[in-house]
Amino acid sequence: MAIPFVDLQAQQAQVVDEILPEIEAVLRRGNFILGDPVSQFEAEFAEYIGSDYAVGLDSGLSALKLALAALGIGPGDEVIVPVNTFIATAAAVSFLGARPVFVEMDEDTNNIDVTRIEAAINERTRAIMPVHLYGSPVDMDPVMAVANRYNLYVVEDAAQAHGAMYKGRRVGSIGHAGAFSFYPAKNLGAAGDAGALVTNDPDVAERVKGMRNVGQVERYIHSLPPYNHRMDTLHAVVLSAKLKRLDGWNASRDRLAGLYIENLPQGIITPQRIDYGTQVWHLFVVRAERRDDLRAALQTEGIGTGIHYPVPLHLQPYYADLGYQRGDFPVAEMVADEIVSLPMYAEMAESDVRLVCERLSEFVLTANPT
Ligand SMILES: *Cc1c(COP(=O)(O)O)cnc(C)c1O
Repeated sequence: MAIPFVDLQAQQAQVVDEILPEIEAVLRRGNFILGDPVSQFEAEFAEYIGSDYAVGLDSGLSALKLALAALGIGPGDEVIVPVNTFIATAAAVSFLGARPVFVEMDEDTNNIDVTRIEAAINERTRAIMPVHLYGSPVDMDPVMAVANRYNLYVVEDAAQAHGAMYKGRRVGSIGHAGAFSFYPAKNLGAAGDAGALVTNDPDVAERVKGMRNVGQVERYIHSLPPYNHRMDTLHAVVLSAKLKRLDGWNASRDRLAGLYIENLPQGIITPQRIDYGTQVWHLFVVRAERRDDLRAALQTEGIGTGIHYPVPLHLQPYYADLGYQRGDFPVAEMVADEIVSLPMYAEMAESDVRLVCERLSEFVLTANPT
């Protein structure tokens, strides 16, 4: 690829020399699971996010699931989830025996339409899961207001938004719990699967620590659901090294996003900056008619793209038995057919952003000759 969609090697190159001796130390000591580097990373990440507690886990999906489990959500409960998110948000609800209730997206922010949350609430509703999709903060004040009014929990899915700010606070720290993924391609990525839960609630933190480790409160006394969702020590070593660089990498993404916004042609619907916070541009997602032709044209030029996500959750085969139909979420359905994620990673050259914009201008001109 002349311009790949994402370039993980460029990021790894910056930390390899620093972390190799620590990785060797872990290999020699043999403290492979929940070793000291995990508690060290938990302290650093809690401080960075501005939460009292962070708990290191084996994935973002586990963080979402254990957050809901710690809040007591289970069979018979309903949880409100945006219809346009990665499957993991809703899967966490389903795995606990609860029911995800989908809410339409907002076309301008790509996030849950906060004005439609209230209509989805009934006597079974227990929680709302706003997703800071693509690294763009949800407008949290109205979400917290409706949650307070109906006595609901708020679990933030911040898996794409490490470091994003909402009115001066890091996302993940605003609701009752926040879930992060450290999947390698996320803004903060491990050397494999990892995740973390953050919270200010000491009971939630304690319960999640027990549940991640086969439900133990003391050794071989299993008082909580006995999951295995522990973080491996090697990931914590990598994450601590990268956390120091996260703000710099996010600033670089922001510069590149600014260049895209400035240089993309009319005819390509471009994400806008929000005025209530800062985005971290996990993905740079535009909309275009003839999206598939556009992707093919870029592919021919060696430019990688993605679609996040092509099928809204209400149309996923796994959720067929929830009873939703095509037409239930017209905004999400329309947007799913038009979105395309352009190359975006902190190390991307500014000249490459300009090149992608030029190719897109040519595509728009050819598609709409005047
Ligand atoms: C990546 C992601 C997750 C799940 O994270 P994993 O670590 O892959 O389990 C959840 N929600 C969203 C929005 C994500 O992008």
